[in-house]
Amino acid sequence: MHEGVMKAWLESSHLGGGNMAYVDELYESYLAEPTSVGDEWREFFAQLPKLDGVDLEVRHSDIREQFAELARNKHREVVTVQGSQSADLRQVKVLQLINSYRFRGHQHARLDPLDLWKQPRVRDLELSHHDLSEADYDTEFHVGSFAGGPETMKLGDLHKALEKTYCGSIGAEYMHIVSTDEKRWIQQRLEGIHSTPDFDKDTKSRILKDLVAADGLEKYLGSKFPGAKRFGLEGGDAMIPMLKTMIHRAGEQGAKDCVIGMAHRGRLNTLINVLGKNPSDLFDEFAGKYTVVGAGDVKYHMGFSSDFATKGGNVHLALAFNPSHLEIVNPVVMGSVRARLDRRGCTDGSLALPITIHGDSAFAGQGVVAETFNISQTRAFKVGGTVRIVINNQVGFTTSNREDTRSTEYCTDIAKMVQAPIFHVNGDDPEAVVLVAQLAVDYRNTFKRDVVIDLVCYRRNGHNEADEPNATQPLMYQKIKKHPTPRELYAEKLTKQGLLSDDDVKAMMANYRDALDKGDCVVDEWRQMDHTSSVDWTPFLNHDWDSDYDASMSVDALVALGEKATAIPASHSLQRQVGRVYEDRAKMLQGEKKIDWGFAEILAYASVVHEGSRIRIVGQDSGRGTFFHRHAVLHNQTDGSTYVPLEHISDEQGPFQVYDSALSEEAVLAFEYGYATAEPRALVIWEGQFGDFANGAQVVIDQFLSSGEQKWGRLCGLTLLLPHGYEGQGPEHSSARLERFLQLCADHNMQICVPTTPAQVFNMLRRQQVRPMRRPLIVMSPKSLLRHPLATSSLEELASGRYLNVIGEIDDIKPADVKRVVFCSGKVYYELLEERRKREITDIAIVRVEQLYPFPHEEMEQILSQYSHVTDYVWCQEEPQNQGAWYCSQHHFRAAIGKAGYLTYAGREASSSPAVGYLSVHNKQQQALINDALTLNHEEKQ
Ligand code: AMP
Repeated sequence: MHEGVMKAWLESSHLGGGNMAYVDELYESYLAEPTSVGDEWREFFAQLPKLDGVDLEVRHSDIREQFAELARNKHREVVTVQGSQSADLRQVKVLQLINSYRFRGHQHARLDPLDLWKQPRVRDLELSHHDLSEADYDTEFHVGSFAGGPETMKLGDLHKALEKTYCGSIGAEYMHIVSTDEKRWIQQRLEGIHSTPDFDKDTKSRILKDLVAADGLEKYLGSKFPGAKRFGLEGGDAMIPMLKTMIHRAGEQGAKDCVIGMAHRGRLNTLINVLGKNPSDLFDEFAGKYTVVGAGDVKYHMGFSSDFATKGGNVHLALAFNPSHLEIVNPVVMGSVRARLDRRGCTDGSLALPITIHGDSAFAGQGVVAETFNISQTRAFKVGGTVRIVINNQVGFTTSNREDTRSTEYCTDIAKMVQAPIFHVNGDDPEAVVLVAQLAVDYRNTFKRDVVIDLVCYRRNGHNEADEPNATQPLMYQKIKKHPTPRELYAEKLTKQGLLSDDDVKAMMANYRDALDKGDCVVDEWRQMDHTSSVDWTPFLNHDWDSDYDASMSVDALVALGEKATAIPASHSLQRQVGRVYEDRAKMLQGEKKIDWGFAEILAYASVVHEGSRIRIVGQDSGRGTFFHRHAVLHNQTDGSTYVPLEHISDEQGPFQVYDSALSEEAVLAFEYGYATAEPRALVIWEGQFGDFANGAQVVIDQFLSSGEQKWGRLCGLTLLLPHGYEGQGPEHSSARLERFLQLCADHNMQICVPTTPAQVFNMLRRQQVRPMRRPLIVMSPKSLLRHPLATSSLEELASGRYLNVIGEIDDIKPADVKRVVFCSGKVYYELLEERRKREITDIAIVRVEQLYPFPHEEMEQILSQYSHVTDYVWCQEEPQNQGAWYCSQHHFRAAIGKAGYLTYAGREASSSPAVGYLSVHNKQQQALINDALTLNHEEKQ
């Protein structure tokens, strides 16, 4: 490179004698990442014509002048002759040309099978832009690291190789990655073979077989069930060989599990041609014959599990069930993979591979995609990278105009936020697709990070088969109509190469059709699922919420656990208030104080891990607790290190993992749902900072948590802790929107609890783990009760092991004197209690409903039996009338009080906002509702 000038400079500097190839390498490293070279080199290179990755506009100032200037500045003598100087400058330009292809070759790559993309002209990819021309084709130049090392190449050969590598069927975007190792790795993989695989005959015919299957299934379904929606893969057929390649590759590299998440497009094809679902089962579903337990779901949302034989052993495949809400299944898949990795004790992701399949419009459009990228490398959520495939059919339903779909160049640009490499690939070149599939799995397994494949293809039919695409995309569909299928194109290629005859291809197609006719599994690699490699769910099946269980323990055992849970090494210096919390906990164990909420929670966790189960708590501020009450993670004030006492309960304990999550609800809750549906033996908890933040994850609550069992038979024991309570903190921090959860309740699908004592939270958490039922538990967890002097419990109450779904009167109220029974849930109980004590009321009983759903009719009946003479019943709530439990639960209250009783409401008036913003108004409302509840109708309200 720029030999004359450089030599002169080098010889006069202390770096004299350095060889040119070395300088080339340095210069390339500098171009890719300026900090990768030493200060002196950086300073020197910075003065060369600028070329950075974002804007490669090379300034056209006279390079020679810059060298001369540089030399003048450094007071070094430059002795060159004009001819050798211009050769040196051309050498620089050649390296810049290579760099330009690496950065921007993808913009000239032949990616679109329909050839409709309007690619911008990229001047950096033109020889003339680098002051080179075909006249230089025979000149040898140093090529730096290009293609892994020929020292020099003729410009003509280099140019051809660059075009082939970067502007063929693969458009590689990777120069945005900061890590030089990763960039070099990708360069070596692509440049060494000029992005052109040299597959043997077997591989090629396997690829064709997969295309025959992809195409054959759609045609078969199309003719057998004309007009039925199947969201066909046609146009993106190469996804089938791509997926199978990935699974083989991952299996050869040691993966034991592969979890796949995808939307509807191509799903039936994946089920039949990759997972090996029996075609006859699918046909039955089309014919409407299939019956599932529960409400069921449409066929193109169904999941499936099987084993898949690879050279490295069987890989267990699980295609996740998913709703129509695009992209939301992806964090679910990641969570499922994390559970499988944790189960296998694998921390680097090598034993389980997540593959997520996206649509182009959804990938760019749905915010949850960004959320999943953001969490992909965090402690709580990392899975060693996800392989993400975008089926880029260039249209979302009826929208294909770039001006409408996104503001980025590619639909995959969001992936750059985590510096994921992105391989755009032409879906009509199945060999390139397979090459990229191998590359993606290898990259993921080497660097443990996300990687994206943009499978550029088309959609042969409308959004579904009954939809007419010409109405909105006439030109695109005129082209598609004339365009041969990927199977036709590849078959033609192989026959031209003499590898197969037309008859061979016809036989392949006929064999596939025959297999479908027979209804037999069409995947050679399919193996009967080996249940030893998956969790055994049988102990958790067919239990209801009132299944019997024993969660009791002795007080001594509880105290022993408490001592472990409060033992902190002397060297671990605690912050003053935290120290006080732990001193108090010691007093609670000694019986000097009653147990408070935070400690009861900790004791529940200690007991669960002590029994060998895993606990995973994830949420915003879960280590400390939003309200400074938990302190599961202790931060050393001297060196910032952390200590988690619950990790030190016993040698045989289950893992205790608590993570402060990224500030996301949607992806995080979906991840936890995925985790809990793949690991019934763990107590999995998601906590909101404030309860109403769960709004941000409403899709997860509606589409998965509340209905996943009904739709797909998938059990899930996830617990949600949602702080809830009217403390005068305004509209956004008061309500966890209890009414929304209650409205979703039916079929005993989930449990809604509002515990009011530390013993209750202890026993509620233990019940969720010890009882074999696995259904979501939604907890309206408290704020002020965390420190309320009345909200304390004895060790005996904790040790009892029972969660009380209803709590009757605790004061000395004689049942015969009772004229009114007030029902309530949550912290308003204490306000009612205190006010009743203050007013010395003796004829009103207060009954706490601690589980609103499933409604505990039997326990309620038992408690109310002593008030059989009472007809005046009141439901008291803090929430406005249109919120809280009033509308959704009053039929349960009415059923409990019988026909003779009448039920009235004491609470806030209906309101569009959850709570008022002014504390004084809040207080007034609160006093009024307490007063209403405690004032008998014939009395004058105070
Ligand atoms: P997977 O490992 O997800 O492929 O699951 C293997 C098998 O376990 C499935 O075919 C189901 O029979 C069962 N299974 C998995 N997850 C659940 C769940 N959340 N609830 C009930 N059964 C499950």
